[in-house]
Amino acid sequence: MKFTRIAGFVLLVLFAAAAPVRAQTADIILVNGNVITVDERKPRAEAVAIQGERILAVGANAEIRRLAGERTRVMDLAGKTVVPGLVDGHLHFVGLGSDRGTALDLGDARSEAEVAAMVRRAASRAQPGEWITGGDWHTGNWEREVWPTRASLDAAAPNHPVLLSGMHGHASWANSKALEAAGITRATPDPPGGKILRDEKTGEPNGILIENAQALVRSRVPDSARQPLEERIKRSVQLALSYGFTGAHDIGTSLAAVDAYKKLIDAGEFPFRINAVPRVWNAGAQLDEILKRGVIAGYGGNRLTMRGVKLSIDGALGARGAALMRPYSDEPHNIGVIRVPYDQIYFILEKSLRAGFNAALHAIGDRGNQMSLDAVEEALRANPVADHRIRVEHAQIVRPDDLPRFAQSDIIASFQWIHCTLDMPWAEKRVGAERLRGGYAWRTLLNHGTRILGGSDEGARTFSPFLGIYAAVTRQDSSGAPAGGWYPEQKLTRLEALRSYTLDAAYASFEEAVLGSITPGKYADLVVLSKDILTVPAAEILETQALMTMVGGKIVYERPAR
Ligand SMILES: [Zn+2]
Repeated sequence: MKFTRIAGFVLLVLFAAAAPVRAQTADIILVNGNVITVDERKPRAEAVAIQGERILAVGANAEIRRLAGERTRVMDLAGKTVVPGLVDGHLHFVGLGSDRGTALDLGDARSEAEVAAMVRRAASRAQPGEWITGGDWHTGNWEREVWPTRASLDAAAPNHPVLLSGMHGHASWANSKALEAAGITRATPDPPGGKILRDEKTGEPNGILIENAQALVRSRVPDSARQPLEERIKRSVQLALSYGFTGAHDIGTSLAAVDAYKKLIDAGEFPFRINAVPRVWNAGAQLDEILKRGVIAGYGGNRLTMRGVKLSIDGALGARGAALMRPYSDEPHNIGVIRVPYDQIYFILEKSLRAGFNAALHAIGDRGNQMSLDAVEEALRANPVADHRIRVEHAQIVRPDDLPRFAQSDIIASFQWIHCTLDMPWAEKRVGAERLRGGYAWRTLLNHGTRILGGSDEGARTFSPFLGIYAAVTRQDSSGAPAGGWYPEQKLTRLEALRSYTLDAAYASFEEAVLGSITPGKYADLVVLSKDILTVPAAEILETQALMTMVGGKIVYERPAR
């Protein structure tokens, strides 16, 4: 008895003496940095110590240098800026790095004729009958803002089915061969939540498919030429890391992608973090399958989360598919489309809440947003969940009366800063100045105490976080127009914009205790930047580059020296 007590005491002393030394030796130390922590308790620091996957300490150079041991790697940042790892809060992640080079990138085209010329060149190189696909066209970028038709594509590629997605994914443009492959004729009715645009005189489908109608043709495109899912994900990860992203919310993804993420994580081939939010269309079998799998939280050392489902209430403003209370200002007989009926929205929310899931509701028009708020409030009344973290994606045009409802029910407003600056040339034409009082109303929502979230919803050309932060703080295009910013009273501060990509993103995935700021105990996810995005002139935010990206204490990207 006595012996044991003494031995125990000795052990305790030995352990007490040994433990601090071991615990306080860093593996990596970053010194002489301009560290922006996004942690209110210590917003700025010079140095960071990292041990294993986690941040050990944050502070002044001298204080942190004391944590160096014999084998510690000390990196001198020479004054460079360090921020927490960036997270895109709304992205279609698998598609980000996929199929580069095989499909046409139409984002720079300025007219229907220019797109048709690109299709003609592609057709001359393709095998007869082979599909020609492409994406990223937008009539808002064109010299004349009118819908194109199948006629120009028929002339360019009479022997190939052509399908070109555009309007930020909300409309597709097909030629006659592609419509034929899908069996679309003048007798085909509009599918629920979608529209087949038709020639006014003849009633024949004119080649433009809106929202849910796109699937009729898309499902016919053979995917034999596509790369395996895991390869596409790996390419997306590499691309994202090079922009300083350490994670993304994969919104509207599939369970197949979730399986692929798990496989890559299990194989140790996933230097990234994903919050997967699979897409559902109704409260049926597909939803049940997702909910049956259950919540995924903290998988593989917080590499994968799945605890929400995505549903699209309406369409988008550019294609006039966003659901409005009153008709479009530039199309008097159109109020947009509701893609999921109210009862289904409600049942999806109810089932999800009961299973411990939440939801991300795409809503762009004021009617789409109001319906989303109504359904969330009703579902929460029936199933009170205090910490639900339900989000509305885009929340672009909201009736001013509805804006306070976000904060009242703790609904996160998930914004894509660049949507505002992409839409501003024509948004007022679509909805008029009056409705824009509740349009892209970031500052108003923040002032109410609404949680926000920053993302891009964009492809590889425009998903740069620096483009997003610039758009959030200037509400100008990259040339600086309009002077002073578009509806400038709604601008964000730079720190708010940075927070929207870091701590706010971590909150939305229930991970703010371990991610989102440079704080001792959290994962060492951080980025070294070429510029101090909090102080450089706004135009220089656009030139900012990620020099080094670290995920869980490992350097996973370094910009090659030139
Ligand atoms: Zn999206």
